[in-house]
Amino acid sequence: MSYYKITDLENYFKMYKKSVREPRKFWDRIADENFTWYQKWDKVFEFDMQEANFKWFTGAKVNIAKNCIDRHLNKRGNKTAIIFEPNDPSEEAQHITYNDLYANVSRWANVLEEQGVKKGDRVCIYLPMIPELAYAVLACARIGAIHSVVFAGFSASALSARINDCEAKMVITSDGGYRGNKTINLKGIVDEALEKTPCVETALVVKRTNEDVPMKDGRDVWVQPLLDNALANHVAAIMDSEDPLFILYTSGSTGKPKGMLHTTGGYMVYTAYTFKNVFNYEEEDVYWCTADIGWITGHSYILYGPLLNGATTIIFEGVPSYPDFSRFWQVIEKHKVNQFYTAPTAIRSLAKESIDYVQKYSLNSLKVIGSVGEPINEEAWHWYNDHVGSKRCPLVDTWWQTETGGIMISPVPFVTPTKPTYASLPLPGIQPVLMDELRNEIEGNQVTGSLCIKFPWPSMARTIWGDHQRYKETYFSAYPGKYFTGDGALRDEVGYYRITGRVDDVIIVSGHNLGTAPIEDAINEHPAVAESAIVGFPHDIKGNALYGYVILKETGESRNQDNLRKEINQLISEQVGPIAKLDKIQFVSGLPKTRSGKIMRRILRKIAEGDFSNFGDTSTLLNPEIVNEIKDGKL
Ligand code: ATP
Ligand code: MG
Repeated sequence: MSYYKITDLENYFKMYKKSVREPRKFWDRIADENFTWYQKWDKVFEFDMQEANFKWFTGAKVNIAKNCIDRHLNKRGNKTAIIFEPNDPSEEAQHITYNDLYANVSRWANVLEEQGVKKGDRVCIYLPMIPELAYAVLACARIGAIHSVVFAGFSASALSARINDCEAKMVITSDGGYRGNKTINLKGIVDEALEKTPCVETALVVKRTNEDVPMKDGRDVWVQPLLDNALANHVAAIMDSEDPLFILYTSGSTGKPKGMLHTTGGYMVYTAYTFKNVFNYEEEDVYWCTADIGWITGHSYILYGPLLNGATTIIFEGVPSYPDFSRFWQVIEKHKVNQFYTAPTAIRSLAKESIDYVQKYSLNSLKVIGSVGEPINEEAWHWYNDHVGSKRCPLVDTWWQTETGGIMISPVPFVTPTKPTYASLPLPGIQPVLMDELRNEIEGNQVTGSLCIKFPWPSMARTIWGDHQRYKETYFSAYPGKYFTGDGALRDEVGYYRITGRVDDVIIVSGHNLGTAPIEDAINEHPAVAESAIVGFPHDIKGNALYGYVILKETGESRNQDNLRKEINQLISEQVGPIAKLDKIQFVSGLPKTRSGKIMRRILRKIAEGDFSNFGDTSTLLNPEIVNEIKDGKL
């Protein structure tokens, strides 16, 4: 019997038990069965939770890019590895086979080496969602350079801060990029960033928009002529299992971005295993994750996880709203997508639009639909489940983090019964616990607490680049001996987990701990409400009171605001309790969001408190202009 694929619920429980009782045996077997290693490990893992030191598959030698590509060439050489769907639907999609991928990544690897990139060097990749992004990432992995992909929506200052933090010696970018009806001058942003980055020696530039861009002598190089002259084969570097694979900065919802370092062997094993199980991927399937490769979701579940399984994975350059709100559904029909993985923020924005957009296209090919990035509210869950999944496709609500490398808590489709807004059960190998304020583990069910993981897993981040002390303090000191996720969760009567939001989003009102998610769920059920966010502010009697920021749908905008406030509070009273009624409700046209679509609550909190002095690092905000509007409208 293979340990790699979870077959049914009984098998899940059996595998889960094995993974807890005999973790060495469990991971040894999975790693042994499914990958190509130059040399096997001496030890499956070693760890020290106090010092935050972790090693997986110690002593093993491996190359992850070789496992993503070369390993498949015999059997799947002519299979499509990547479908590239351009921003403009009239531009033809590209089907890149595993053979093509091998040739392209080999060329890139040879070019990087010719340009002097060596094992352990950091390479910053700032590219739009085009195939070259995949080639560049995999070429780094192939030669043993550490990639640090920065989402190509970040500003010059956010980019230079990340480049300097990891001291990248090369930046890979393009002349520009397309996003909806906009053309973005990426090279211009890079030029501005590189004025402040003494560490960068070379900028390799890919052509995408063919706009004229200035090229700085001695620094900037067009990559295409180099690729044309490079050999289409390459001998992959032999890497230690614990050699660094990449640095990725967290999305920055809560403060100064952290450069999470991931290493090779454990990350490979865990992303492959979780991709296979969470998406129930089968050989002929076409899989699509709409995230950007600049986020961990794109790293683990557009590139590494799918390619390690020899899958067909889509790289989508565009946005859900261009040319119109049916783009996602049109792409699903066009490529007969079987697994579709997106974020609640995208679902909510599409649910606001007419249902005709969805119904125009056939979504019959879909087998599994997934969600990631933030808690999915009840209304969005049902909309997604009913209209996209047709109540037929299991909806996997996957909870995980940049730091965890791979999906931690999620239903396994066709195995774990789903429950709206619940990430449900931990995957094998993952041991979640809930902790109370006194740092005790909370036993039993129907409880809430702060979510920790009490045992290491293969793909956990190994450190914060250049700051192990911060890594230790942020994740391993709040609850000694455990990994602290920063998220709160509730465990229901059967042991299912629901992530209730970040722990610092719990607001204590008159001594009651209120999570923001259920209250926002109630508000969002009002037919005139599009989206909402609540925060606490100091109150003389209650300790804290609740302040709500509410975006109205077009239909709600003409309504009397005081009546709306009453109705919203009525809904909250009914669904959560009178204790959770909002003291103040401000109607806004938008909420401050990070570029990955998450609400930056610390700014809302400051505004509600009336403290306009210091909003902290806002360089990762998508819509900084909204901050002033909200400030001006403060109640
Ligand atoms: P930063 O750590 O810099 O503040 P971030 O936490 O937003 O940024 P990510 O690592 O991309 O950066 O996001 C992980 C977080 O997203 C989780 O800790 C959790 O709060 C939230 N999250 C992700 N998936 C889910 C999910 N399925 N349900 C609920 N919350 C989720
Ligand atoms: Mg985080």
